Amino acid sequence: MPDDPAPAPPVPEAGAIQRVPVLLPLPFPGPFDYKAPPSLALAAGDIVTVPLGNRRETGVVWESTATLPPDLAAPETSAPVAASRLRAVTARLDLPPLPAELRRFVDWVAAYTLSPPGMVLAMTLRLHMHGTTTPATGWLAVTPPPETLRMTPARQKVLALLEDGTARSTTDLASAAGVSAGVVKGLADAGALRTVQLGPERPFGRPDASHSPPTLHGAQETAARALCQSVRDGCFSATLLEGVTGSGKTEIYQEAIAACLAEGRQALVLLPEIALSAQWMGRFKRRFGVQPAIWHSEIGQRARRLTWLGTADGSASVVVGARSALFLPFCNLGLIIVDEEHESVFKQEEGVIYNARDMAVVRARLAGFPVVLVSATPSLETLVNAQAGRYRHLVLPTRHGGAAMPETHLLDLRDTPPARGQFLSPLLVEDIAATLGRQEQAMLFLNRRGYAPLTLCRTCGHRMECPHCTAWLVEHRARRVLSCHYCDHTEPLPDACPSCKTEGSLTAIGPGIERITEEARMHFPDARILVMSSDTLGGPAATAEAVEKIARREVDLIIGTQIVAKGWHFPHLTLVGVVDADLGLGGADLRAGERTIQLLHQVGGRAGRAEAPGRVVLQSYTPEHPVMQALLEGDFQSFMEQEAEQRRPGFWPPYGRLAALVISAENARDADDVAARFGRTAPYGEGIQVLGPAPAPLAVLRGRHRRRLLLRTQRTIAVQPILRRWLAMVAPGRGIRVDVDIDPISF
Ligand code: ADP
Ligand code: ZN
Repeated sequence: MPDDPAPAPPVPEAGAIQRVPVLLPLPFPGPFDYKAPPSLALAAGDIVTVPLGNRRETGVVWESTATLPPDLAAPETSAPVAASRLRAVTARLDLPPLPAELRRFVDWVAAYTLSPPGMVLAMTLRLHMHGTTTPATGWLAVTPPPETLRMTPARQKVLALLEDGTARSTTDLASAAGVSAGVVKGLADAGALRTVQLGPERPFGRPDASHSPPTLHGAQETAARALCQSVRDGCFSATLLEGVTGSGKTEIYQEAIAACLAEGRQALVLLPEIALSAQWMGRFKRRFGVQPAIWHSEIGQRARRLTWLGTADGSASVVVGARSALFLPFCNLGLIIVDEEHESVFKQEEGVIYNARDMAVVRARLAGFPVVLVSATPSLETLVNAQAGRYRHLVLPTRHGGAAMPETHLLDLRDTPPARGQFLSPLLVEDIAATLGRQEQAMLFLNRRGYAPLTLCRTCGHRMECPHCTAWLVEHRARRVLSCHYCDHTEPLPDACPSCKTEGSLTAIGPGIERITEEARMHFPDARILVMSSDTLGGPAATAEAVEKIARREVDLIIGTQIVAKGWHFPHLTLVGVVDADLGLGGADLRAGERTIQLLHQVGGRAGRAEAPGRVVLQSYTPEHPVMQALLEGDFQSFMEQEAEQRRPGFWPPYGRLAALVISAENARDADDVAARFGRTAPYGEGIQVLGPAPAPLAVLRGRHRRRLLLRTQRTIAVQPILRRWLAMVAPGRGIRVDVDIDPISF
């Protein structure tokens, strides 16, 4: 432990050499000491440049980790460098210092996930340190618009953003409107925009908490009042806001945001797929009068920097973002909302492996403010936390405005099988026809991109597999290729079987949405069909456009992958057909049932959100399965209780703690060898168990052979100290990676 655990470096003494620890965004075990020139007057949190080898690196003046709980604190390893050998900090950058609250969070996440703290820091410094904040120009709308201007929905969206008279840059407009930069340029070329110099100052409008509040009744009002009160209390609390799809959860947490703004504090909303949230943005704007600040991996360099600075100086008062937004340097954060908290995309699976939902709770607890987890189908972890009284539980039992929950029907495919080579049961086809006949919209859901998941040789039985992964190649017929959905591998669809060389004997097995689309076109030649998948929708702009088209009723039948399950509000959609409800239940993952019910409930929740009642038809070969029965009864709760009972005896999460060691190497022998060494040195003791080594769920991924060991402990035993000791016992050797996954989401 360093001598001085105080957060700020000591006051300079005459003659004494000032030493400051500087954490670099690199995979070192901790900060390095540097000499602090007194002229820089450095304080903890300052962003500085320092020499490292013969390079210059940007880092942050750090303090010791004395604030971590003993389970998480790693023992100090190296002795301090002699004062005479210290190199000096080069400069202090003209950026706001990282708040103590964020530094503590970085240390905590690093310790919890067993990641080098610098790699967690890297997530907060993900911006160009030396970029400029003075943008060249912005745009204002010309009023009235030129008479010759041809109006399109995309153009309209851009112009609507400029209505409040605030100039905005091209990238800002394009990302806020969910259109391409070309749309903005087109408007400018058409004389509908004029350019002005943009100041570096406030790119973010001030959300107005009283712009247009909703009228809430009953359970909605009770829930909103409770949330607003905890925001005003301003201390840590965790709440699960559970309510069926369409019950007004968004409406209610927006009230909590309003209360937070009224307190003069910032709010952060984490959404699972921020790039797909055009409708959410529109609702925010209607409620608060302006767009929130946005943070995700696809925003441009400049927007990134502005949002980063805006969170640091407080001008970005509401940020909506992907999981990495948790690491922004908010100066006055007072509320975090995690919408669709059960979504597995909150788990980052590479680099620092962490679950943003859980870390949101940690961040709120460390800083002392409320966090709200929102879902129609909460994860078992969160439900158990609510039942145990660790989280408050607010429930909205019914849809807003008297809209009924969709009626669910199970279609037993053994009784009414699809025609040969087809995948839609005649009953479902009839149902769709009737729906379209009433001028209502229908949707077919299948969580599988491409044409067919397997290509098989009818002569020799050869299966087309990825050369780099344990995975079948998926046919994409439109592009005439086979492609791996786990790596970048793509190859042309061969004419002959590569194994037995028979011409024309390769056959597509099973459906992907391309194939379902083909079948639907045959049944409904006149229907206007829209396919929604990441292959057909290039990005957020195209997705927003597709959603608008559906809302404008320019589409009759929507066919999509899980993109369609994302909380969209489609008022004219009354029938949702799930092509393969059993998909996802195969395999050994203990979580399969939970995940399937969450996904199918979300998809079904798209139906009947307005006046016309909705129907959900599940095609299944296993209608007796508990997941199907729970969906049929609409009884999510009993299903989750059964799941809980299955996990409790074996101390599976959330009743115990789990961590995975994933060992990967270019050849199987190295992977096996290192995995066996971990197996031999496995920790043991009361309440501690190690499972494996066994092949990891994707045994070969991108050419690397993967083995997994699972460490399971009782809840009262922390896994981190055990893992640290275990990892220290095995030196894996060159080219062999050992990834630690705390709280893995499949097991
Ligand atoms: P959820 O987030 O639970 O799916 P939403 O907040 O999206 O539910 O609400 C569903 C629909 O009902 C939305 O169109 C929303 O604007 C509307 N709505 C919900 N509550 C109210 C309310 N109190 N007043 C007016 N509209 C409401
Ligand atoms: Zn592959």
